[in-house]
Amino acid sequence: MLGLALGLTLLTTVGNIVGSVLTAYSVKPGAFAQARLRWLLGFAGGFILAGALVEVLPHSVEEAPAWGPLLALGGYFLLYAIEQVFAGHAHAPTSTEANEHTLAREVDRPHLPITPVAGMVALGGFLLHDFVDGLGIGAGFAEGAGLGAFMFLAVLVHEVPAGVAVASLMLGSGRGRLSAVLAGTGIGFITLVAVPIPFWLGRINTGLTAGLVGLAGGSFLYIAVHSLIPSAVRGAGRWGFVAVPLGALLGVAAGLLVEG
Ligand SMILES: [Zn+2]
Repeated sequence: MLGLALGLTLLTTVGNIVGSVLTAYSVKPGAFAQARLRWLLGFAGGFILAGALVEVLPHSVEEAPAWGPLLALGGYFLLYAIEQVFAGHAHAPTSTEANEHTLAREVDRPHLPITPVAGMVALGGFLLHDFVDGLGIGAGFAEGAGLGAFMFLAVLVHEVPAGVAVASLMLGSGRGRLSAVLAGTGIGFITLVAVPIPFWLGRINTGLTAGLVGLAGGSFLYIAVHSLIPSAVRGAGRWGFVAVPLGALLGVAAGLLVEG
């Protein structure tokens, strides 16, 4: 099962790299590319929101009634804390709205100038986020192939945007294309590194893996509600509003499929 988990996670790593390469080598994305990215953000947001509520969190609460809900809250506030630290360092001398920085806005306004420190904080945040993604995939597969496959899908749908965002932050903080692609590659590989950990922890205590599913579920809730869906909603084209419920519908369908 660990082999399957690692093999599938390699695809999410590729997603990160693709996102960062696309961003590093197309300095000014056209309106069409922007609209497609927003559509993907909305779709991923809907999918992950539904997945967290219908599949991931209920599983964790059922299997780890004590730790699941607390770790879910922990996963949510972990990402909340990352964003607060980032916003606190993002003051850019050329921007009049420096205090409005959030990770979602970086996707919204590519290559917005930010301070080099904020760029590093953001990279650290993405590394931590993608580490939690890997814990989620590993914990899912440790619980069973169906839940593992679902966790993998929930991560896969948002990894191209994550690659875009981290590369955009690198370019925005004055770093070059190589740094942007290396950042995308780094967040991809840290997901792989995290995958075996729940398997090892599961040998110590089987309840730990269900708890880690909850941790990932809480972080899914955060990125869906605060990062992905807001980016999609702002300035989405005529059909943009369909992306979120469509993603949610497919998230529920995928959840039912893996349960069945
Ligand atoms: Zn992620």
